[in-house]
Amino acid sequence: MNIKKDTLALRASGLCASFDGIEVISDLTFDVREGELLAILGPSGCGKTTSLRLIAGFELATAGSLTIGGESVIESNNFRPPEKRGVGMVFQDYALFPHMTVLENIEYGLQGIEGQHQMTAQALAMTNLTNFGDRRVHELSGGEQQRVALARAIAPQPKLLLLDEPFSNLDPSLRSRVREELHDIVRQTGITTILVTHDQEEALSIADRVAFMTSGKIVQIGSPEEIYLQPASIDVAVFIGETNVLYGVVSNSSVDTPLGTFAASDNGSIAAVLVRPEHLVLSKIGIPATVTHREYYGHDQILRVQLDDTTLVRVRIDSRTHHLPGDRVMISLSEAPLVLAASG
Ligand code: ATP
Repeated sequence: MNIKKDTLALRASGLCASFDGIEVISDLTFDVREGELLAILGPSGCGKTTSLRLIAGFELATAGSLTIGGESVIESNNFRPPEKRGVGMVFQDYALFPHMTVLENIEYGLQGIEGQHQMTAQALAMTNLTNFGDRRVHELSGGEQQRVALARAIAPQPKLLLLDEPFSNLDPSLRSRVREELHDIVRQTGITTILVTHDQEEALSIADRVAFMTSGKIVQIGSPEEIYLQPASIDVAVFIGETNVLYGVVSNSSVDTPLGTFAASDNGSIAAVLVRPEHLVLSKIGIPATVTHREYYGHDQILRVQLDDTTLVRVRIDSRTHHLPGDRVMISLSEAPLVLAASG
């Protein structure tokens, strides 16, 4: 199913939430389009799980409104309970009943619903668990348990699927495969999905759009490319991938840094020049530097180099070029850097 650009699956407007009088969600405002996979990305404690719980109806909002599928579920005089929101949720720890079978776990949430056996069979087929129905959950691997949690969430055919850090309990070697499987299932069902994660690779690789959250607010929302290449602030840039940050005072509408002089606004203010390591290259003519460390990753490598004025920068290059600490190199920029106000 394709994303329906004009059909809103969810609209959150000015949602706030507090614990013990301390506001942890402030003015949460965003839309999700039908069929879209939106990732909410942000550092630990920024309010991602609480946002999902507000949407699911497990927490109360102190202000704001929420519509799901065009129907109001939170408004000043209206709170629709979780079971009436048409939302499926996969919890971080899966929250399965370990001694029940896969089938029993899925059917538990379908009691009293007409066609529950067919719904269960469909959910098992979609998650490639058809032959696992009689297995007990505690006998399954982490990846299989995650699929059971997903099957249970999608079995009632919800309008919206909420995934809370769905890969965090998995071994890193399993993660990319399980992520791919989950992405395929979500795509096949066409279900609108909100995924929360603190892993930027996860967000960038599977989301249609990424919402970056910090201190209870969404500070930027956009395609993975927009978020990575045009971060709205230094915080977003640094969280979302490696970045060299160089500061300078703006004068004559430009900022002077050891990597060059770049256009900037607000004469007299401090500007931050952001350069991704992969936007620096080794070249025949360029800025002289000395390699201080080499981090080899197989698919590529990072050289830590010191410019002659002592500034340290990180340069990502292919893994075949061989340089050792102490080697003299020249570096230059392959792309214009992003220049932001240092307070941003
Ligand atoms: P993480 O990535 O570590 O899971 P998060 O971004 O999901 O973090 P939340 O779990 O939503 O963040 O927490 C947001 C803030 O609310 C944190 O400061 C947390 O300590 C606080 N908080 C969350 N749940 C409760 C609760 N039940 N009682 C009191 N404070 C809470």
